[in-house]
Amino acid sequence: MAIDNLVETIIFAPKKVNQMTSRTVAELLSEKQTQIDIEVKGWVRTFRANRFIALNDGSTINNIQCVVDFENFEEATLKRITTGAAVHIKGTLVESQGKGQSVEIQVNSIEILGDSDPETYPIQPKKHSFEFLRENAHLRTRTNTFSAVMRLRSSLSFAIHKYFNENGFYYMHTPIITGSDAEGAGEMFRVSALDAKNPPLKDDGTVDYSKDFFGKETNLTVSGQLEAETYAMSLGKVYTFGPTFRAENSNTSRHLAEFWMIEPEVAFMDIHGNMDLAEDFMKSVIGYVLENNKEDLEFLEQRLIQEDKSKPQAERSEMSLTDKLRFVVDNNFKRVTYTEAIDILRNSKPNKKKKFNYIIEEWGADLQSEHERYLVEKHFNCPVILYDYPANIKAFYMRLNEDGKTVRAMDILFPGIGEIVGGSQREERLDVLKQKMAALDIPEEELWWYLDLRKYGTAVHSGFGLGFERLVMFATGMTNIRDVIPYPRTPQNAEF
Ligand code: ATP
Ligand code: MN
Repeated sequence: MAIDNLVETIIFAPKKVNQMTSRTVAELLSEKQTQIDIEVKGWVRTFRANRFIALNDGSTINNIQCVVDFENFEEATLKRITTGAAVHIKGTLVESQGKGQSVEIQVNSIEILGDSDPETYPIQPKKHSFEFLRENAHLRTRTNTFSAVMRLRSSLSFAIHKYFNENGFYYMHTPIITGSDAEGAGEMFRVSALDAKNPPLKDDGTVDYSKDFFGKETNLTVSGQLEAETYAMSLGKVYTFGPTFRAENSNTSRHLAEFWMIEPEVAFMDIHGNMDLAEDFMKSVIGYVLENNKEDLEFLEQRLIQEDKSKPQAERSEMSLTDKLRFVVDNNFKRVTYTEAIDILRNSKPNKKKKFNYIIEEWGADLQSEHERYLVEKHFNCPVILYDYPANIKAFYMRLNEDGKTVRAMDILFPGIGEIVGGSQREERLDVLKQKMAALDIPEEELWWYLDLRKYGTAVHSGFGLGFERLVMFATGMTNIRDVIPYPRTPQNAEF
């Protein structure tokens, strides 16, 4: 009896507490009942005419209007209601008198939780450049654009876990510190606990990493794939979703030194299954935000329409943001071999007129983002999956085809982004893999465990890597990767 009561208290107590304390702006804006007493906490976006507070708490892109009858408040209090201040408002939820919102709050009391200095507060209620907001990344989510982007980022992240969970995948955490540099030779960040000023040296004068923390050279991972393969070969279907690091000095709008990657890996699945999975997955997560982030998408779409107006006609986008997302969800991705793509590119106008920075002449050329975007945006006009690439421009672990010169690699190319997914069927034959590693000077000792998978119960398996920020760029229409991650890490920049 006593225990029953206890359970009841535990279950029902939080609900009561919730009703008594403040509610989110999102909850209040969708509240059907009016003439009720409510409380809300948030940050002042604007305070107009000593009467109208636009309040936002991050729960939605929309502000709630709070109407202050200034005769009931002291001058000193009113003065402290400034843009950026944190406030606790108690009042009555009423049907809105004005246009643009269904409900508003008639304010009974205001407590200033934290003042803001209107002289120095960087996020003034006006247009700011993205460059300026990057320098104020700690406050930029107080703007509509960045709060919408980051809510979408959160939602996409959830949709990814949801998709894999519903499709029988296990979530695996691959190591962030890695002892093998097989994949990222030259573009890895070293992890060391040695004294940089006075490291132990070997006889030949080079640093003695056997004295380092791990007894060997270690780096931050560039990919969790190799470890994910080991788990696919026992758990069947797995994925990783974690941070990866690349010390490539490419200051582009699509590269970060620290980015998040989603890497599924599946046993008994070939390259075609891999393409099916990747396409279904991309459609599912984009479909999820179309359904669940309507208001944020609507805002970002309007932002892009406004931005487009200041561009010359030729550079304006033909599709609105949601049309673009719908288009991906509703259409089949075009599957084309590398060889077919090279033919298309070689005969293309920009190639013949030497408009590309890199002219495509020979089969075997590595594709640049300008070529990828030509295929997607001009030639096929839909997402494209390119597969069967030349072996020598792709990684050592990709399955060699019977022709002996191409591998079962597949890249997905998206409009405006270029490569968004890179994947392959993995080489499952021990002898072929060893030959490949020998040719590339990858020591077998370093990947003995990876080779073991090919010794004990080897099988066809495949997977891919999706750069999470590239997906967020696509879904939000943002054009610089620095604007879709909270605190971007790029060459010469690790502020915050
Ligand atoms: P790119 O040619 O664009 O540099 P990559 O061939 O180096 O890409 P992969 O090694 O195949 O890319 O990595 C898988 C995915 O990770 C890519 O398809 C892309 O979405 C993403 N990605 C790769 N490098 C970066 C980076 N520096 N910043 C953000 N995302 C990245
Ligand atoms: Mn790269």
